[in-house]
Amino acid sequence: MPETTDTIFSKIIRGEVPSHKVYEDQHCIVILDIAPLSEGHALVIPKEPARSMDELSDDAAAGVGRVMPRVCRALKKVTGCEAYNVLQNNGEAAGQSVHHVHFHIIPRFADRGAPISGTPDQHNGPGLQMQWHPGTLTPEAAKEIGMQVKRLL
Ligand code: AMP
Repeated sequence: MPETTDTIFSKIIRGEVPSHKVYEDQHCIVILDIAPLSEGHALVIPKEPARSMDELSDDAAAGVGRVMPRVCRALKKVTGCEAYNVLQNNGEAAGQSVHHVHFHIIPRFADRGAPISGTPDQHNGPGLQMQWHPGTLTPEAAKEIGMQVKRLL
């Protein structure tokens, strides 16, 4: 069992801090993000106090996985978004600011010009902005990394 986190999300799960909770079961809660990148931005949070994905138990992960598609369907229906990003940050260098595992579901509205807040450099409407700079996977690297990862799974 991972070490207990004492983050804002643990406090929300324990009911010590208010939140806009839209769902709860034995494994997870779903809340609306307090600083949304777009309308409907929600967070799916396992109750298990893991800091990052690699600490999460199979059972807790399965509990979250069962709920994710349902939340996505509800957000599509309610907001009318055609697209959305699912984002999950692990570690500060990856942009994680709350060190308790959580999944962002961020609706995307191609037909909306302006973001809810933030800079107006949106090309596909408000939502997650990404800079993706792909490299090349060489056959040698694929073989070496692939072999090592395979051994651990
Ligand atoms: P991350 O950077 O992936 O750790 O994301 C943390 C997210 O938690 C951010 O999008 C915050 O806006 C959100 N957040 C922080 N505190 C709260 C809160 N009390 N209620 C809802 N969302 C929160």
